[in-house]
Amino acid sequence: MSKPAVAPSERMLPDASKALSVLNSVFGLPRFRGAQAEIVAHVTGGGNCLVLMPTGGGKSLCYQLPSLLREGCGIVVSPLIALMRDQVAGLLEAGVKAAVLNSTLSWDEASEIEQRLLAGDLDLLYIAPERLLTPRCLAMLSRARLALFAIDEAHCVSQWGHDFRPEYIGLSVLAERFPKVPRIALTATADELTRQEIVERLALNDAPSFVASFDRPNIRYEIVDKKNAQTQLKAFIAERHPGKAGVVYCLSRAKVEDTAAALSKAGIVALPYHAGLDAEVRARHQDRFLNEEGIVIVATVAFGMGIDKSDVRFVAHLDLPKSIEAYYQETGRAGRDGKPAAAWMTYGLADIVQQRRMIDESPGAEAFKRVSFDKLNALVGLAETTQCRRTRLLGYFGETPKNSKCGNCDNCLSPPNVRDGGVIAQKLLSCVYRTGERFGAAHLIDVLTGRETDRVKQFGHHRLSVFGIGVDMNDKQWRSALRQIVALGHLRPDSEAFGAFKLTESSRDVLKGNTAVMLRDEVPDVSGRRGTSRSRQKSALSPVLDGSSPAHALLSALRAWRSEMARKHGVPAYVVFNDATLEGIAVSRPRTHDQLRAISGIGDKKLERYGDALIALVRSDTR
Ligand code: ADP
Ligand code: ZN
Repeated sequence: MSKPAVAPSERMLPDASKALSVLNSVFGLPRFRGAQAEIVAHVTGGGNCLVLMPTGGGKSLCYQLPSLLREGCGIVVSPLIALMRDQVAGLLEAGVKAAVLNSTLSWDEASEIEQRLLAGDLDLLYIAPERLLTPRCLAMLSRARLALFAIDEAHCVSQWGHDFRPEYIGLSVLAERFPKVPRIALTATADELTRQEIVERLALNDAPSFVASFDRPNIRYEIVDKKNAQTQLKAFIAERHPGKAGVVYCLSRAKVEDTAAALSKAGIVALPYHAGLDAEVRARHQDRFLNEEGIVIVATVAFGMGIDKSDVRFVAHLDLPKSIEAYYQETGRAGRDGKPAAAWMTYGLADIVQQRRMIDESPGAEAFKRVSFDKLNALVGLAETTQCRRTRLLGYFGETPKNSKCGNCDNCLSPPNVRDGGVIAQKLLSCVYRTGERFGAAHLIDVLTGRETDRVKQFGHHRLSVFGIGVDMNDKQWRSALRQIVALGHLRPDSEAFGAFKLTESSRDVLKGNTAVMLRDEVPDVSGRRGTSRSRQKSALSPVLDGSSPAHALLSALRAWRSEMARKHGVPAYVVFNDATLEGIAVSRPRTHDQLRAISGIGDKKLERYGDALIALVRSDTR
């Protein structure tokens, strides 16, 4: 696209309508979302700012549009090469002059891009931070006309953040070297501490923060007690989301493989995805997930960055993520189309122990470990809460919802029974104390329930006063109580003796009865814990995605066509058109270019390039 992104007659329009007109002609979008308009106006006017918006909220437009509206080229700093490449592919599809500078380019390719930058022939240039910070690159930038600096994934600058990248620290040089070029920092995940650090390091002290709500009201949060995770998962998918696309996260590659195999055996189309697989296999699995319907991808956290698939109906966690930030980001990949979606997690005592152990054994400094423990504890708090999960989640990001009950999480839909667990806790803590703080769950429960196992006799624990004081509860109930008491911090996993539990500072008060301990009742159901009946889920399904809908055949044809285009152009499918746009076409069945142009996601360039093919597809679908 040539620099005046707006037609000459529009040059005289006030900024706001200019922005709107570019939004429409280039990106094919009818209106701004949330704070986008305000942010675009602010940055276009030359202001710095910090943008906090959840994944999928629409951060990219906040710097892409000002780059088109201002003189010069917008420089985008992003840590992920694949993400940069896809963004640039998407911009090129929309007719924007965009390029990327990274280590995968040859010298010739790189110098051609540099020439274009200096000649004023680029609207947007994506650069990896380590490259940007080389003296050579900085010198080149100071000779170019720059519209702005966008620092994407800005939380990477924070040592307290969950994704610290040392190369980001050097970005503080931007404010010093280019004081007149506006800086816009963007992130989807930042607690208060991280936020402060971004502001400090990028010198945004006097700049406003635009904080969008992190609420994703269509996502139903549900966290269930882990029994047999794979069985629970199979039931969850088969009963609640049969034939739907979803992502299942596991911690290890082995577990990914194992889970994918188990799901496949149960007749669910499931594909593994992790860093140990061949790049080619990974690409194929991702491609199928994006283009076919109802594929479940089982993955380590390596999967998902930059994936823009709108109809993911569920995200399931078989293992506890590291932090609420990670949980939020991963679950955020569900339901981007705004239709009902589920974030489901199984969680048990072993998860807490395992995660604590990973932190303990990590090579990081003490201060870093402490932060990691705090982050883990916050997530465990979310898993254990008997209150609304959404309220808790948003509270973590500094938001207080108007309503303290969301009505769309497991705890709201069927509030758990909570009872005074003081005596239970005292029995358990006494048992830990009397057995010398050296034993794990199985042995403690043997002693409490009065089982004379060999081990119990070997240590003489059948003679202790605590032997058999817990016969009124079964193993499952004791495990649940133990997990909750660990989560509450009244016991902690021993960092040296694996599996053993030790007393904590707060144990004393519990033993004395000075601290109330509220415990949730163990709930017997296996698959979908409390409530959430199948019919309720069904009725909420969109007509388009329902296999019997008339739009369905056309949608399949459109998807197949999109795959072909994507392959031909060597770009991911969603770069050609996203799901929402294809659905728009399938439902409204446009017959003319004007009708097609009215659909969200079809700008001038795409209309020109694909318009005839799309209309031919609609016409050939006679039903
Ligand atoms: P983020 O970077 O915040 O994760 P993106 O910028 O990738 O989000 O946008 C996510 C999706 O939302 C994209 O498919 C994009 O086309 C869409 N989107 C962004 N802004 C708008 C808007 N104003 N109207 C409609 N769709 C939008
Ligand atoms: Zn709720």
